[in-house]
Amino acid sequence: MQTLRLGSRGQDVRTLQSRLALIADGIFGPVTREAVMSFQFAQGLEADGIVGPKTWTALGINPYHRSITKIILHCTATPEGRDFTVEQIRQCHLARGFSDIGYHYVVYPDGSVHAGRPESVVGAHCTGQNTCSIGVCYVGGYATDGKTPKDTRTPAQKKSLRELVETLQKKYPGATVHCHYEFANKACPSFKLCDL
Ligand SMILES: [Zn+2]
Repeated sequence: MQTLRLGSRGQDVRTLQSRLALIADGIFGPVTREAVMSFQFAQGLEADGIVGPKTWTALGINPYHRSITKIILHCTATPEGRDFTVEQIRQCHLARGFSDIGYHYVVYPDGSVHAGRPESVVGAHCTGQNTCSIGVCYVGGYATDGKTPKDTRTPAQKKSLRELVETLQKKYPGATVHCHYEFANKACPSFKLCDL
């Protein structure tokens, strides 16, 4: 969770406000600050109006919980019809110097969903967007020539991707769904968001 103070905005502020039974508008204004200070005082904490790890803990929220505001879709950029496993992706990413597979989930052509990096850990899949996002990847994304971007999703993959995104959106209310190409000059994931 972020450390919040007067002027902070966003999802973490909404979480804070709902814990304090305030209107969750996502804007840390004077009313929120007042409520934070009263809460801190009642908890025997320093009533500074700043929500850091101690205050988050007192609110019943793990301060190291990541706040997820985006779900970002990817492809493995491998040719249509070729299998590519979580372990193979992990090896590629380790070779690139990542600490683990960069994605949180991988959807195989048969529609099975496989866990990559734990959701609680920041991924390595989209420059500038990793801290606040979950990275979801499907196997495929290129035509058989191995270089032309193509939506190679099988019907089973499409169904699983949609269901996985829905599950994540329920888990992280307010999180928006994006394609990797929105943040980078890439074709990834080789389909448009409206075709999800
Ligand atoms: Zn990507």
